[in-house]
Amino acid sequence: MNPHAPEQFPSNAREALTDRTLRTALRSATDLFAQRRAAAIDAVPDWQQLREQARAIKAEVLDDLHGHVEKFAAAATAAGAAVHRAADAAAACAIVRQIAAANSAKRLVKSKSMATEEIHLNAALAADGAEPVETDLGEWIIQLAGETPSHIIVPAIHKTREAIGQLFVDKLGIPPSSDPQVLAAHARDRLRAHFAAADLGISGVNFGVAETGTILVLENEGNARMTTTLPKVHVAVMGIEKVIPRFADLAVFLKLLPRSGTGQHLTSYQSLLTGPDPVGGEGPRELHIVLLDNGRSKIAADPVMRQTLACIRCGACLNACPVYQSVGGHAYGSVYPGPIGAILSPQLHGGERAAKLPFASSLCGACKDVCPVKIDIPTLLLELRQRAMQPGKQSSWFERLGWRLWAWSMAGPRRYRLATAIARIGQKLPFVARIAPPLAAWRSSRELPKAAPRPFRSTFRSEP
Ligand code: SF4
Repeated sequence: MNPHAPEQFPSNAREALTDRTLRTALRSATDLFAQRRAAAIDAVPDWQQLREQARAIKAEVLDDLHGHVEKFAAAATAAGAAVHRAADAAAACAIVRQIAAANSAKRLVKSKSMATEEIHLNAALAADGAEPVETDLGEWIIQLAGETPSHIIVPAIHKTREAIGQLFVDKLGIPPSSDPQVLAAHARDRLRAHFAAADLGISGVNFGVAETGTILVLENEGNARMTTTLPKVHVAVMGIEKVIPRFADLAVFLKLLPRSGTGQHLTSYQSLLTGPDPVGGEGPRELHIVLLDNGRSKIAADPVMRQTLACIRCGACLNACPVYQSVGGHAYGSVYPGPIGAILSPQLHGGERAAKLPFASSLCGACKDVCPVKIDIPTLLLELRQRAMQPGKQSSWFERLGWRLWAWSMAGPRRYRLATAIARIGQKLPFVARIAPPLAAWRSSRELPKAAPRPFRSTFRSEP
């Protein structure tokens, strides 16, 4: 399934709902991650306290985002990194292209990074004939398939291993197999050659420490470590909200992020990079850090929506969301899918484009319950829904009439009794719902709650 535009979410979702293979793949993967997460957090007695600590650290950063970013930039520069600032996606892409051109870099490798997906870096580099090779297995599969990721930590979550086996047959000409070990071995063979030849490596950043100028990259396959150390030039694209004040704060986030995302106690690799290695012995000679704003300053200035930037991209809210579990990531038509995408994408895209995404939620609250940094996603969804409405066009005449009648009926006990009596009669007349088109549309996928056949008061009075 190809990505669609965010404004087409309703039709994208309808299409996704007819794809049984997609739903089976999503359900089994999200269930597995949810089980692993539950087991991993059970083993941490102070889990809720850790969540509070993480939230407090993020609140400290967001209270003075630019102060922390400046501190990080100064420390990273002092450690020898070149720090660049990008106001938007175009500026970030231009910076990376300039670095590649200055180093005559044509062979590029890249580790998984949502920030680079957000700015569509691969397409920008391809314009210079230098498309980077994705080295995370899931991202590589997606690149081979010509698709976009459908999950923020498991990019190929929508694909079954049979589908991946067929993709490898078609694209790599290998014998058919759906054995993950066999498929991973083929991928490893191909990717090693790219690592060995690469002039430039591109990564994202999980956390940037203001105190030391250190960046942390988390991963499980060793590909990010090779991407950030083998090529002579490393470019790290970091959303400015990834900054944290102190090195010691990592202890909190390292307990929360892997457990929330994949149910691991810790990712297999944690690469802490403080400046380059000028002699190129154990790291790149040049380290460039691109600090990406792209709408984040605006979000940070909004006292209600600011908490969106506390997200540590663990993916737990996607795995817990019944909407995501049913339609997958591509239906959102946005780099960031699921509950976090439904609040982040409208703020990053702005305007009408992603305005429908906050409505792609049942408001069940599962996302809030699992979020390791306690982002109140349901409240933010409601806020964005309200903001998406045009003044004066907030609802249809029928809806406004309904709310007026409801308000009238709730204004006194007699009115309430009259309204419930009418409801009891009305529900015996199914044509009432059929002749009112808005009700008919609403009822096509929902059951109307039934009024009790007898009011509680009269039952109560008649009981001895
Ligand atoms: S909103 Fe919370 S649960 Fe969702 S990806 Fe971000 S940190 Fe994880």
